[in-house]
Amino acid sequence: MEKIKMTTPIVEMDGDEMTRILWKMIKDNLLEPYIELNTEYYDLGLEHRNETDDQVTIDSANATKKYKVAVKCATITPNAARMDEYDLKEMWKSPNGTIRAILDGTVFRAPIVVKGIEPCVRNWKKPITIARHAYGDVYKGSEMKIPGAGKVELVYTAEDGTQTKELVHNFAGPGIVQGMHNLNQSIESFARSCFSYALDTKQDLWFATKDTISKKYDHTFKDIFQEIYDAEFDDKFKAAGIEYFYTLIDDAVARVMKSEGGYIWACKNYDGDVMSDMVSSAFGSLAMMTSVLVSPEGYFEYEAAHGTVQRHYYKHLKGEETSTNSVATIFAWTGALRKRGELDGNKELMEFADRLEKATIDTIEAGSMTKDLALITTIENPTVLNSEDFIKAIAAHL
Ligand code: NAD
Repeated sequence: MEKIKMTTPIVEMDGDEMTRILWKMIKDNLLEPYIELNTEYYDLGLEHRNETDDQVTIDSANATKKYKVAVKCATITPNAARMDEYDLKEMWKSPNGTIRAILDGTVFRAPIVVKGIEPCVRNWKKPITIARHAYGDVYKGSEMKIPGAGKVELVYTAEDGTQTKELVHNFAGPGIVQGMHNLNQSIESFARSCFSYALDTKQDLWFATKDTISKKYDHTFKDIFQEIYDAEFDDKFKAAGIEYFYTLIDDAVARVMKSEGGYIWACKNYDGDVMSDMVSSAFGSLAMMTSVLVSPEGYFEYEAAHGTVQRHYYKHLKGEETSTNSVATIFAWTGALRKRGELDGNKELMEFADRLEKATIDTIEAGSMTKDLALITTIENPTVLNSEDFIKAIAAHL
């Protein structure tokens, strides 16, 4: 069989620990036998980030701007324990944060739906994709404890010195206060990423805030979304047969619980933080959740939503058998390959991505899976496979 050719490279960002082991197994067993894999390789493993003073992370993000498509393995975000473990020069920042800052993107997280791994919300039949705004609000807030009676005001001083004031509260006793902000530019790029991704995946887009209570702050989010939709996306949505739907956050939550899924839910920063964990736990497992960073300019970086699975890695180092789920990492690759195929008009590559996803799902639905899934599946007497045998079982289906 002749291998599928690729005209343009994908940016390949290798990572850490158990997911780095899976990364190689996936390439060896599921990709390289079928594709003349054309990637520009960046080693984001912690050792190499440390050697390059984290320049490699910046270079990989810039390469993503050049080639438009990247696939990323999970990486360690260093903490105090990692400083000693890897003898680090500095506590390097989260690579995902660095890449997101350079690409100015929005992260879309979606569950991989498989028969036999049933969501605990019975009516959820299709994936619910969460898009979380990644700038501002309480995450960049400033706070004060108010020790006793007194007045708190918001003061805006314009560049020419003129001031506008707004009373927050006249305190009669101790209390607390919080100031937070967002930027029109950030909300605009969030909105554009969401509308573009809805078109890209042909799914409806839902967005919700509390604009009835927050008449300026949340209302601005609502207005910006509506203005961009009307000016840039209304025609395209109609042509694609999809809808933009705005509602209040409490109404959205109630509707989500009763829906069958199959849409993108755009959330403000805090709502997205909370709701993405609700959706992923209800759909079964973090190991069955993919994640893609979409920039407003149309750059795509695909990854698994989980971390490096440290505990399994230490077992692997001791020579013990592991049963680590590679599904989300496989789907990161298929997402990137399909997008590459789409941008290059490479139909064979797109079809291969579909086939690999189907082989992965078929393997699980036929009863062969990793331990984490075997514990939650409704399939009777599943076959529990180790990390490598699961990937080989997928190769057999492929
Ligand atoms: P983790 O996602 O690696 O593991 C959390 C739990 O889920 C563990 O109990 C693990 O056993 C289980 N789990 C996760 N993925 C699994 C899989 N594919 N198969 C089977 N079980 C799986 O998160 P963590 O333990 O909090 O963090 C480990 C490292 O990963 C940390 O250094 C952290 O910085 C990093 N991390 C990276 C990313 C990323 O690169 N996107 C995201 C989260 C955490």
